[in-house]
Amino acid sequence: MWIVPESAISGLVDAQSAFQAIEECFASMARRDAYNFPVVREALGEGRQYGFKSGLDRAGAVLGVKAGGYFPGNAARGIPNHQSTVYLFDPDSGKPVAMVGGNLLTALRTAAASAISIKHLARADAKVLGMVGAGHQSAFQLRAAARQRQFEKVVSWNLHPEMLPRLAETAAELGLPFEAVDLPQLGAEADVIITITSSFDAILQDGHIRPGTHLACMGTDTKGKQEVAPEILARATVFTDEVAQSISIGEAQHAIAAGLVREGAIVELGAVIVGSHPGRVSAEEITLFDGTGVGLQDLAVAARAVELARAQGVAQQIAF
Ligand code: NAD
Repeated sequence: MWIVPESAISGLVDAQSAFQAIEECFASMARRDAYNFPVVREALGEGRQYGFKSGLDRAGAVLGVKAGGYFPGNAARGIPNHQSTVYLFDPDSGKPVAMVGGNLLTALRTAAASAISIKHLARADAKVLGMVGAGHQSAFQLRAAARQRQFEKVVSWNLHPEMLPRLAETAAELGLPFEAVDLPQLGAEADVIITITSSFDAILQDGHIRPGTHLACMGTDTKGKQEVAPEILARATVFTDEVAQSISIGEAQHAIAAGLVREGAIVELGAVIVGSHPGRVSAEEITLFDGTGVGLQDLAVAARAVELARAQGVAQQIAF
């Protein structure tokens, strides 16, 4: 059995290899070669969440589970709020294959998902990127998004403005001008908006969103969380990683409950990747990607990490 510790991941998997692994994963899901098992997610109290996301990709010969959760007190201890580990198994024998640190991989696979949505759904002439949220994931999101379009500016809003320097520094690294703005200005200027917060109420309202905008709503991954008004989903073409998660724990849960969106109208992003759905069809269309985070994404990047770690001789092997 191979062990790839958290400390090795940054030297192995970068934004580009995560992007490729997740695009292949979404395509496998669309071809029905891969499927996610039901998610287990439990509230542990004091805002802590713990759960298991798992699945099987027959095409990639990957079976496994990510065990992990969200611990809001961790930032004060100097460690990320998300803590997770991925376990991979041989799909033929069930024998354990690898244990892989999942923290950085979670950020990379989540950023890859919204970047893939931008690649396939945002207008080709998108110039302004709007960021709502400035926590741990936000800088990864910004870096991955910046690779997909010729952005000329980043505008950002966060409930806690003292966190915005994280994004200002990341934008500076990328050579992009950065401006902290209010929500009406963000909606009026941005061609692409990423939301990545732990909000339980709609932050962006219907009147904030212009025709032609692409939204990647990435923060809502639990029942009750919400980042945008359900009326925005009613106006948009809604895409997701997995419909079952979108309607139960994703941003679409609220629009579905309000009767504003039908389950059958939500499109898996994989369908656009494999060409069975056209994606955006006009410059005025609002597209919204409800990125809920599926187990297969975790397995895909973990399998890539093991492959690279073995090739570079940094995977540790133990008899198990
Ligand atoms: P973090 O704790 O580092 O940052 C939290 C962010 O949410 C900050 O910008 C904070 O200001 C904002 N926020 C907190 N409470 C808020 C409120 N009530 N209203 C509006 N904004 C609020 O967290 P993070 O690691 O950056 O993760 C952000 C979110 O993304 C979490 O909800 C997490 O569960 C989710 N997430 C989703 C996926 C996925 O695959 N979809 C993957 C990883 C994380």
